[in-house]
Amino acid sequence: MRFQDFHRQSIEQPDIFWAEQAKLIDWERPFDKVCDYSKPPFANWFVGGRTNLCHNAVDRHLKARADQNALIFVSTEVDREQVYTFAQLHAEVQRMAASLQALGVKQGDRVLVYMPMIPEAAFAMLACTRIGALHSVVFGGFASVSLASRIDDAQPTVIVSADAGSRGGKVVPYKGLLDEAIRLSSHKPAKVLMVNRGLADMPMTPGRDVDYSALREQHLNTTVPCVWVDSTHPSYTLYTSGTTGKPKGVQRDTGGYAVALAASIKHIFLGKPGETYFSTSDIGWVVGHSYIIYGPLIAGMATIMYEGLPIRPDAAVWWSLVEKYKVTSMFSAPTAVRVLKKQDPAALKKHDLSSLRALFLAGEPLDEPTAKWIADALGRPIIDNYWQTETGWPILTICNGIEQAPSKFGSPGKAVYGYDVKLLDESTGEELKGANQKGVVAIEGPLPPGCMQTVWRDDERFVKTYWKSIPGKLVYSTFDWGIRDDDGYFFILGRTDDVINVAGHRLGTREIEESISSHPNVAEVAVVGVADQLKGQVAMAFAVLKDTSKAATPEAALKLEGEIMKVVDEQLGAVARPARVRFVTVLPKTRSGKLLRRAIQAVCEARDPGDLTTIEDPTALQQIKDLVAGR
Ligand code: ATP
Ligand code: MG
Repeated sequence: MRFQDFHRQSIEQPDIFWAEQAKLIDWERPFDKVCDYSKPPFANWFVGGRTNLCHNAVDRHLKARADQNALIFVSTEVDREQVYTFAQLHAEVQRMAASLQALGVKQGDRVLVYMPMIPEAAFAMLACTRIGALHSVVFGGFASVSLASRIDDAQPTVIVSADAGSRGGKVVPYKGLLDEAIRLSSHKPAKVLMVNRGLADMPMTPGRDVDYSALREQHLNTTVPCVWVDSTHPSYTLYTSGTTGKPKGVQRDTGGYAVALAASIKHIFLGKPGETYFSTSDIGWVVGHSYIIYGPLIAGMATIMYEGLPIRPDAAVWWSLVEKYKVTSMFSAPTAVRVLKKQDPAALKKHDLSSLRALFLAGEPLDEPTAKWIADALGRPIIDNYWQTETGWPILTICNGIEQAPSKFGSPGKAVYGYDVKLLDESTGEELKGANQKGVVAIEGPLPPGCMQTVWRDDERFVKTYWKSIPGKLVYSTFDWGIRDDDGYFFILGRTDDVINVAGHRLGTREIEESISSHPNVAEVAVVGVADQLKGQVAMAFAVLKDTSKAATPEAALKLEGEIMKVVDEQLGAVARPARVRFVTVLPKTRSGKLLRRAIQAVCEARDPGDLTTIEDPTALQQIKDLVAGR
């Protein structure tokens, strides 16, 4: 089928289109109506249908593939590799579900999961959806204050956690942070279920804290049937990455999500039952929810859950897993590729990667040099995809499962089926119909299945934050800038709050970054707009070098700075030339690898950088502070 026709049907005849996709999952009761959009922008998918996420991810595969791999856990942190078949996963999920029930968790309750990347985290998520409880996974890297605000928002009956995570061989204790978070929060969970990995102290609060291994022992053979829930029953809440401010609790449904994921594995990620999927994300992020846990398992694929760094013990570790488990689809982020880019590309060529249909990348702009580097190093197709925590699955990409289409460097691709993507004029809010015009990327309602239902316990915030009316329609704003070329390929130019205004010229930070990274010695760069008395704003660049010896002395650094500015002059023109290009060893990023431009900008303008709870490495911001202060 032509992709164009597939997409057109999804927009013009959504009921027929999605009813067809809905056959990819099991329903306990068939739905009466495909989409109820009588109260826009709230969309209810597969109304009247009853299903269960855990049933679709686990139980339904027992007939055909009980003894095939389901969850492959690999930790280079604690040197452990353990494979669970679907039958074993089924047993473990029931043990966890029975334990949660024993602690009083009922349908509709929230269970907060604050865990490292260990199998029990997957069991806990699946156990929740099995019994109709909502999981709220909070990334294990968060500290007490951010955790406390999420505890207050989710109001969990039970928190599931572990003694510690591990990163780069260093133990990261969790329990102290968790205890402190519960002390800070106004909501108190009834019980805390602790998994003891034997890595760190795990002081237990009597009456509240329960050791999982003991409770599990009591439920080795307890059967816990799946609770059939309405298609619109919420399955989980998850907070956005927090790149731009206060995180929002995204609430997801059950039936629409299951259908969207099953369809995406087939049409986008090219996966088939019995094959292996490897997503290098973390369960704390949306990619982990959709493409470590639910998507691959719903599709009957084995999924690799990896605890560790991409370059430890060496840069070949991921690729050795691809070879060993014959991974067919792999999903990672440009930030991880940039880490690899600082290594010898030979490491990537050591292994047989012929099983891999493609490497999918998402989460941030994939600049051309990075895309080319990884495509060359792997010799496999690279497919960019653009989406958000809010949508749960890709908005823009190339759907090679429908029709083979070429990728264009710098573009995540075309609007995916189900998404009626528009570009809106920033000032008038009107739709830009022609090609090659810059606008805000928006989606005409209803959002397709799998996207957020609302903001958890805050319908008003959902409507106010995301939805705009344009003549005759309601549109969802992504808050990203984009441009569409003559062939329908989109290019993401940055976030709407990442535009710099230099003497009246509006420049996307992304364009300047892209230009700077084309300099052969630049591994990574961040550009922000900084207030300037004369020009309104000027661009400031902070770059990480591949070879730092080239900027070892102040003179050498100045020379390199000049060279980089010349590159920008030649490619974009002198208006885009940054006022300064400074060199750092690491850039401030969120734990999910997104550049914290707002924090860099604040530091450059000597303002308070605000909420930094999601920052990966606080010393990164200190380096910038020192440079700005002239230290
Ligand atoms: P918050 O909404 O809390 O500020 P966030 O937007 O970083 O956090 P996510 O939902 O994880 O949280 O990220 C989605 C955003 O990431 C997109 O809106 C876009 O800005 C960026 N993004 C994701 N994928 C791509 C891609 N392939 N190319 C360019 N940008 C991307
Ligand atoms: Mg966002």
